[in-house]
Amino acid sequence: MKIHEYQAKEILRQFGVPVPRGIPAFTVQEAVEAAQKLGGPVWVVKAQIHAGGRGKGGGVKVAKSIDDVKRLAGEILGMQLKTHQTGPEGQKVRRLYIEDGADIQKEYYVSLVTDRATQSVAFIASSEGGMDIEEVAHSTPEKIITEYINPLKGLGDEQARKIGRGIGLPEASMDQAVDLFQKLYKCYMDTDASLVEINPLNRDSQNKLTALDAKFNFDANALFRHPEIVALRDLDEEDPAEVEASKFDLAYISLDGNIGCLVNGAGLAMATMDTIKLFGGEPANFLDVGGGATAEKVTEAFKIMLANKNVKGILVNIFGGIMKCDTIATGVITACKAVNLSVPLVVRMKGTNEELGKKLLAESGLPIIAADTMAEAATKIVAAVK
Ligand code: ADP
Ligand code: MG
Repeated sequence: MKIHEYQAKEILRQFGVPVPRGIPAFTVQEAVEAAQKLGGPVWVVKAQIHAGGRGKGGGVKVAKSIDDVKRLAGEILGMQLKTHQTGPEGQKVRRLYIEDGADIQKEYYVSLVTDRATQSVAFIASSEGGMDIEEVAHSTPEKIITEYINPLKGLGDEQARKIGRGIGLPEASMDQAVDLFQKLYKCYMDTDASLVEINPLNRDSQNKLTALDAKFNFDANALFRHPEIVALRDLDEEDPAEVEASKFDLAYISLDGNIGCLVNGAGLAMATMDTIKLFGGEPANFLDVGGGATAEKVTEAFKIMLANKNVKGILVNIFGGIMKCDTIATGVITACKAVNLSVPLVVRMKGTNEELGKKLLAESGLPIIAADTMAEAATKIVAAVK
């Protein structure tokens, strides 16, 4: 799960990580009031969307008067902000953050991320922070350093200092850096984050460090421990089909192709998508109805898939284990009738009560294309959508 920058900075504040003063705003009027409250003389008007790269896309602007704040808030609020992380259609800006303008001497990059290979948290840092970290990673990767944190020892003074020296912080900033890095690590662990990224970490002319940007991702499997974080979820920033699917406990991910896939089990979903691609097709989604699919769940799954106008055919691929094939067949038949299915449907089922399931489908009178193997199912659906 992701959150907005202003929410991330509130969490950092709670952990004692220094951030500029700022106030979120949902309207131009609120932006003006926020600016008056902060007092200036320089403000930054920042678009709040879940994607990075806002600065380059025109979503972060410096204001030198209340009138500037008013004008910029009017321009940014409601704009379709395009960044390298939003995709070509961009993301609509519905929230702003009005922040004290910082005195920037030098921008650094620091982030923490769970590293599966070493089974530890990786602390990644660079002297070259700011808006071009992707370019740094690409052209001068030696300017990015990584320290793996021993989960039993945590981030000690020595290792924190090593990171500070590694990114060329002056001695005058070192004690603060050690403290800040350790607080970041504690914040990462205590919130069950999977990513915390501060880019830029600013050093001002007094050598004081401040987080000017903040990005958090949280481990979805640990959210049950953090109702206060779940409360920060902004559904406007998520794919509407995925939000709808989550209400019915369906694991759904939108993709770019035209073949809807309804499958039980994530492994089978992956294999099904691979098989579709092998036979020259493109999946429109990943949809796992899980082990306990009811007719209602299957109907909702069909509705969600068909709401995507790109879907030109559906492939149902079911392994009947705990889930019985006749249950799925009943679900498919109910769903087809409920949604008035208008695209070709290929069904392949194997396992418990397979014969009964196939019989139900054959006798339903619906134009369902049956398939026995995955290759046959993929060939048939790819041909049907052509
Ligand atoms: P993004 O990473 O989405 O582009 P940032 O919050 O990092 O957004 O802002 C982009 C750039 O704008 C930063 O690298 C920094 O130079 C500048 N900036 C951001 N916040 C402030 C601030 N409060 N004061 C001065 N400059 C800022
Ligand atoms: Mg940034």
